[in-house]
Amino acid sequence: MKTNLLNFDLNGLTEHFAQMGEKPFRAKQVMRWIHQAGAAGFDEMTDLAKSLRAKLQEQAEVAVPALMAAQESSDGTRKWLLDVGTGNGVETVFIPEAERGTLCISSQVGCALECTFCSTGRQGFNRNLSAAEIIGQLWWANKAMGVTPKNERVVSNVVMMGMGEPLANFDNVVTALGIMLDDHGYGLSRRRVTVSTSGMVPQMDRLRDVMPVALAVSLHASNDAVRNEIVPLNKKYPLSELMAACRRYLEKAPRDFVTFEYVMLDGINDKAQHARELIELVRDVPCKFNLIPFNPFPNSGYERSSNENIRVFRDILQQAGFVVTVRKTRGDDIDAACGQLAGQVKDKTRRQEKWQQITMQPKGVV
Ligand code: SAH
Ligand code: SF4
Repeated sequence: MKTNLLNFDLNGLTEHFAQMGEKPFRAKQVMRWIHQAGAAGFDEMTDLAKSLRAKLQEQAEVAVPALMAAQESSDGTRKWLLDVGTGNGVETVFIPEAERGTLCISSQVGCALECTFCSTGRQGFNRNLSAAEIIGQLWWANKAMGVTPKNERVVSNVVMMGMGEPLANFDNVVTALGIMLDDHGYGLSRRRVTVSTSGMVPQMDRLRDVMPVALAVSLHASNDAVRNEIVPLNKKYPLSELMAACRRYLEKAPRDFVTFEYVMLDGINDKAQHARELIELVRDVPCKFNLIPFNPFPNSGYERSSNENIRVFRDILQQAGFVVTVRKTRGDDIDAACGQLAGQVKDKTRRQEKWQQITMQPKGVV
C-alpha cells in the first residue's frame, strides 16, 4: 500500500524521507508543494529530481478526501461534504467576515460524547478522522478559494468546531494542527487556530504541553446539575476540575483568556440566576463568553432562548465586566450553523435532498 503523505507533519515527512535515503530539505519542499501549492500529484513538483518523483510515484500518494458536494448560503457561508469512505461524509464550513475568513473543521465522524442539544452527538460515533482527512479539509478550502487579490490566504483562521470532539482524537488532531502552524505548511499563528472541547481535562493538559493553540471550552451550564444533564462528560470531569484545567492551560496559551461557549437553551440554562452563578463559577479564570443561540434540528426537543432572555443574560455578564459576544447564526439555510452538522453518518431524509450532488476529484489523486 502506498503511504499517504498528507498524514505527515514536517517531522513525520522528514523521517519518511530519511527512510527513503533522501535529505531533510526534500521534506520541506514536498510539504510546500502539497500545502502551499495545493499539489496532489508528484508530476507537478517540478523542482524534485525526476528519479525522486518516480520513486515517490511508486511508493507514495497525496490522497485528499474526495469532494462529494458543495453548498453556498445566501450569506456567503460555504459548506463542503467530504467523502471519508464506507458511505460516510464529514462537513467543513467556511464563514467569511470583514476582517477574517474562518474555517470550521471536523475531527470525527459523529461524536461519542452525546451532548443532548447537538445534532452530531445524536448520531453517535463512527470513527476518528485521520490527520490526512482533517488537514484535507483546509487543503480543499484553499483549493476552492485560493488567495485574495492582495495575495492573502482567504482562510485566515481555523476553529476545530465542526463534527466531533477534537481532543478525543488527540494524536491526529495534533498532527493536523502542526501542519496548520508550520511555515512550510499553512503558516497560521497559534492565536488564529482554536480547539474547542467539551472539557476533556487530561487531554487539555496534554494539548497545553505539546501544541498550545487558542482554547474554547463548551461550558453551557453554570452548575454541575444542569451540565450533567446536557453535557454527560461533566459526570467524569465536573466543573471544579474543568475550571482548574482552564487555569493550567492559560499558563502556556497563546492568548491570555479562554473562550467559554454557552449554548442558549430556552428554560434550561438561560435564566438570570444562571448568569449570576456563572460569574461566580469563572471567578478565577480569565475568559470571554460566546453565547450561541441554540440552532434547532429535527426532534431536538429544545427551543432557542428568546432574544430578550439572551439580551438580559448578556447584560448581566457584561455588567460584571466580561467581554461577551452573541454568535450570529450563519449558514442557517444550508444547515451549516453550529451543532447542525450531520454529514453523512445517518439521516438519509431531509439533508440528502438538499445536497446538490456534484462529482469532483482533486487533480492527481490515484
Ligand atoms: N466537540 C467540540 C467541538 C464541536 S461543537 C465541543 O463540543 O466543543 C462546536 C460548538 O457548537 C460547541 O460549543 C457545541 O456545544 C456547540 N453546539 C452543539 N450543538 C449546538 C446547537 N444545536 N446549537 C448551537 N450550538 C451547538
Ligand atoms: Fe460532541 Fe461537541 Fe456535539 Fe458534544 S457538542 S456531542 S462534544 S460534537
